[in-house]
Amino acid sequence: MQEKKITINSPYEMEELGASLALLCGKKCIIYFIGELGAGKTTLIRGFLRALGHNGIVKSPTYTLVESYQFNGQKKVYHFDLYRLVNAQELEFIGIRDYFSDEAICLVEWADRAENFLPKADLICRIDIVSEDSRSVVLNAKTLLGEDIIDFFQNCVF
Ligand code: ADP
Ligand code: MG
Repeated sequence: MQEKKITINSPYEMEELGASLALLCGKKCIIYFIGELGAGKTTLIRGFLRALGHNGIVKSPTYTLVESYQFNGQKKVYHFDLYRLVNAQELEFIGIRDYFSDEAICLVEWADRAENFLPKADLICRIDIVSEDSRSVVLNAKTLLGEDIIDFFQNCVF
């Protein structure tokens, strides 16, 4: 499966990357975000949500595990943050299966904390800190949808 490495040099560029992903992912898509605290997962997701029309703040739903967004055209986005997940049972409590079976985009920060309990991702986005403002982003396709998304990035300025 395909892989694409991108260097991002500012929070603004990270939001732009998120916005591009938002325009490519259709109505149903699962993206895992892997990377340490402060890597820029939420910053990317903020750009993603703003591109779809969200105007308010976007914070990691660390304590509630998930935040739901609904847009015009019935597009739905579920933003998960599994940083504080203690055991997989908590996922059952929040009804994780319903979120993922819904026609929705699921963006999952810290998906590596629950990988065996989540449906397969279309795309895995790994973010590593290079320096204060620079980040290395690796996109890995896991399905045909993921491949289509990466195809776009192969042909653009990122
Ligand atoms: P995470 O969700 O991975 O814990 P956040 O997106 O909440 O990370 O925080 C990233 C922090 O790093 C923010 O304070 C942001 O301003 C800063 N930052 C600096 N450079 C970048 C960059 N190139 N991309 C993303 N964030 C950056
Ligand atoms: Mg975060």
